[in-house]
Formats: sequence, C-alpha cells, structure tokens
Amino acid sequence: MPELPEVETIRRQLCAAGVEGRSIEKVHIEWPRTVEPLTPAAFRKQVQGCRLGKIDRHGKWLIFRLDGKENLLVHLRMTGGFYLTKGALKKGPHDRAVLQLSGGLNLHFRDPRKFGRWRLAASLDGLGPDALTVTRKQFFQCLEGQNKVLKALLLDQSFVAGVGNIYADEALFEARLDPRRKSGSLSDTEKLALYKAVTKVIKAGVRNKGTSLGDGQGNYTDLNGDAGGHREKVKVYGRSGQPCTVCGQPLHKTQITQRTTVFCVHCQN
Ligand SMILES: [Zn+2]
Repeated sequence: MPELPEVETIRRQLCAAGVEGRSIEKVHIEWPRTVEPLTPAAFRKQVQGCRLGKIDRHGKWLIFRLDGKENLLVHLRMTGGFYLTKGALKKGPHDRAVLQLSGGLNLHFRDPRKFGRWRLAASLDGLGPDALTVTRKQFFQCLEGQNKVLKALLLDQSFVAGVGNIYADEALFEARLDPRRKSGSLSDTEKLALYKAVTKVIKAGVRNKGTSLGDGQGNYTDLNGDAGGHREKVKVYGRSGQPCTVCGQPLHKTQITQRTTVFCVHCQN
C-alpha cells in the first residue's frame, strides 16, 4: 500500500514529466466509484477545461491544484498509481480514470483493486502535519495529551499524516520503542527519538523512491512502472521470524489494532 514516500515519488515524477500547467481537455471515468460521491458526468463537468496547477501532497494525498476553487485530491489506497502515455488514447485494462491533457499527454489512473479515490474539495480536513516536513515542535505538540498505543498512534493520520504500516514498524524499530507502549509513557528523550526515527525512515523511503513488496500486479510501482528501491532497506516490516539486524534474535509478530506488527522484543522497550 502506498505510503508517503511512494506518493511523494509519484508527485515528483509527475512534476518532472511536465504535467503541471496543462489544461484538462477530456475526462474519462471508467470506474464510477472512483469519483464518488459525484457521478462521472458531474465530475467531468467540473474538471474538463480546467488548468492543472501545482501538484502538492499532504500525507498520502496527492493534491492537483485546479484553477477553480476546488482541488482534485487523489488517494491511491491499496493499488492506485499513475502512468503517462502520449498521442492517441489507448486505455489499459486497469485504468479507472484518464485525463487527456493539452499537448497530447494522457494521465492514466491505474488501480487493479479499485479502492483509490478522486475527490473535488477546497482542502483536506482532519490531517495532522505531514510526516516529511513536520518540525520537532509540531511533533511534540501533537503528542501532548495523547495516550495511544504507539503503533496505533503512528497510523493515525490526524496525528501525523503519511505513515502507514511499513514505515510505522520501521520508525519504532529505529527509535527502539516497543510498538505496544502507550505514548503517554514516553520520556522527552524517547519522544525525541521517535520524532527523529519517523522523519529519518520517511526521508530514506523518499530517497529510495519508495518500497515495493510482493510480486503481484497490484504492488506499488512509480510513474515509470518501476518498483521502489527501499525494499532491501526494510529492517523489520515483513521480516517476522528473521534475525534482528541489531541483536540477531528472531523478530516477533503481533497484531495491534488489526494491523500486523513486527518488532524485536529484545531491542525495543
Ligand atoms: Zn534485536
């Protein structure tokens, strides 16, 4: 499932490919639920003819600024992703929406599992600061008055936006914190370690152009269809039973708020 580094990789590639500044000449909606609650016709009416401005991101959301008052907000969910083609439009089997842009560029939204969503809204509500740019001060403020299990807190997008299962496990390992601990029990030193760990693993993920796991058709790939380079760098996620990279003991697996969590019972306290 794409998390912040994967979405940021796609955003940077869309910008580098010159998608910004083009007008949306034609809108094709192949899977109506992608644009719910709007109907494809209502969505098309609002978007067709608009100019795509800056492409931003907050947490796991891509934000396409439109020249109207609403923005196109895209969440990739499980298997969503983009690719570009040029010239005459040829739709792919898993395309759920396609924007034909000026200059003959086609922006395809491919989503085998169909959970990805496109929304039109002025802004995003209910999200905490972005995990890539959150400051130490903001992070400490977000921790104020919280007493959640650490793994659940990191997954809570209203706490810090952009962290999912992979980077939550990696950050807790990096900080040497037990994912089952309550956030209210953290000392200032531990809070700082957690802040540094979250920003470190997220930045490393961005640098390596994201993480791709498994070999199925639904796995994350970037705009060019390439898998992320971060898979080899993962220290705990998906490594249950394998030796801890620090102490050599087998890594432990548990469920926390219905999410598989892998950690080292010896190193993480
Ligand atoms: Zn260990």
